[in-house]
Amino acid sequence: MIPIEFSWAIFLFGLLPVLFIFWLWIVPFTDKSTIRNVELNQATWHCNICTYIYIVFDKKVISKCPRCGSLNKRSESPAD
Ligand SMILES: [Zn+2]
Repeated sequence: MIPIEFSWAIFLFGLLPVLFIFWLWIVPFTDKSTIRNVELNQATWHCNICTYIYIVFDKKVISKCPRCGSLNKRSESPAD
């Protein structure tokens, strides 16, 4: 067993919540899932004919719907 003074034990147990909060704060900056979500949003297509939602990871302007076969054009703004 490691001998430790009582004041050091209080300090170390008080430091644990601080490290936990720091870990919760730093994880979003190191996690790549936010970047992946942005890439997934850009790769998600919505068919104008059959309303099917599909994913194409190529950076195309026009994609073909896998359900109905119609061609869909990527719009710059969601209002188009
Ligand atoms: Zn379709």
